Amino acid sequence: MRLDAVIFGGGVAGLWLLDRLARQGCHAVLLEAGELGAGQTVAAQGIIHGGLKYTLQGLLTPSAKSIRGMPALWRAALLGHATPNLTRTHIRSDCCYLWQTDSLSSRAGMIGAKIGLQIKPETLGLDDRPEALRHVPGTVAKLAEQVICPRSFLADLAEQYQDRLLKIDIKNGLRFRLHSPGEISAVELTDPGSGRELVLSPRQVVFTAGAGNVALRKLAKLDDAVMQRRPLQMVLVRGELPILNGHCVDGAKTRVTITCDVDARGRMVWQIGGQLAEDGVAMSPQALTQRAAQELQAVLPGVNFDHTEWSTYQVDRAEGSTNQGSRPETVQVLCAGNVTTGWPTKMALAPVLANEIASRITAEASSAPFQSTAWADWPRPNVALLPWEDPHRQWWPQPKSTHQAPPQRRAA
Ligand SMILES: Cc1cc2nc3c(=O)[nH]c(=O)nc-3n(C[C@H](O)[C@H](O)[C@H](O)COP(=O)(O)OP(=O)(O)OC[C@H]3O[C@@H](n4cnc5c(N)ncnc54)[C@H](O)[C@@H]3O)c2cc1C
Repeated sequence: MRLDAVIFGGGVAGLWLLDRLARQGCHAVLLEAGELGAGQTVAAQGIIHGGLKYTLQGLLTPSAKSIRGMPALWRAALLGHATPNLTRTHIRSDCCYLWQTDSLSSRAGMIGAKIGLQIKPETLGLDDRPEALRHVPGTVAKLAEQVICPRSFLADLAEQYQDRLLKIDIKNGLRFRLHSPGEISAVELTDPGSGRELVLSPRQVVFTAGAGNVALRKLAKLDDAVMQRRPLQMVLVRGELPILNGHCVDGAKTRVTITCDVDARGRMVWQIGGQLAEDGVAMSPQALTQRAAQELQAVLPGVNFDHTEWSTYQVDRAEGSTNQGSRPETVQVLCAGNVTTGWPTKMALAPVLANEIASRITAEASSAPFQSTAWADWPRPNVALLPWEDPHRQWWPQPKSTHQAPPQRRAA
């Protein structure tokens, strides 16, 4: 089967690219090894960043420049005014809040945050604050950064492109026919269930498989020491909690980032990242939730965590390597032979990555309309579950420290 492109990996990067290629008339399919978005996308907080986090030190950094157009672009897609059509993607919130602790460095952060962005924080009066931020002593601002449910985004695009998504078994059902390293002439697939074989002959092959890009590059005989992982341990809290989406900033750091959703049984779930999740990597889940409870009490005075349940999950951010292992400023793309490897760095930057990769792929196998009959009965991938919907997840009662008097604030 002649194709213009075969994409490996159906997270935000692969699915956005598939939409882009299909719309430019390319004969393209996406191969998924597990569940769509497993890895990072389904575990993400879903904030369509506009770069504020990257200006907290008061400079318009390259990261902030690269991401500042994204909120408008996503907003148009979510409204159905631009592609991809994301009108079935659930919007958790139309804005984020930004609040500060009462330290000096925190105040400096809020000033820095106003520089050079298309979306600037709008300071709120006491009456306009959301319930969760009523008792915060410092400034509270509103930021027009939307928060989406990543799983509904994955499901939205999976439904639109069902006939182009194939589930593959990378251990027992995937081989590359190589002309030379990085020059793939055919992708040979076996469905272990039925024993059926399928040979795809793409002009271009794209790896957008997150952490899975390393194994794919190895199979294509390309350098596999090109990726870095930055681990996180995220905290989950569920129970009777107020709605809250936003960041508590302290100087140039995001002390916590909180997003929320309602689970399948109607309970409010908070997903907590930021510096807490970076520091949490070295802690046991119980120790981390204890620390999280103290941190939340310090940054959200007045919020009641009685009768809540807590959990954590570990996840690595997978990105193209940088010299010091720091976060890349923007998307990362590597090209060799007919293989392109890409990491978006942020979910919000998926459109930038898709543009960059799609500009190298033309619709040539496409003299006839796209036909999916050759793989009509092939297994299809499911969409990964949100971390709090995992039936095997352990939850424990609120850590004791939430009952105690608020701990002393950290030094500025
Ligand atoms: C906890 C957390 C919170 C985040 N919050 C945000 C946020 O709020 N906003 C934001 O902009 N960014 C956020 N990010 C970053 C964002 O999630 C990632 O940059 C983005 O999801 C990466 O997408 P991806 O498609 O490259 O990879 P992934 O989402 O990891 O998807 C990779 C896909 O490839 C599949 N796969 C793996 N190996 C293979 C293989 N060999 N063959 C075929 N398929 C394979 C996987 O099953 C998966 O479906 C967050 C990241 C984390 C970890």
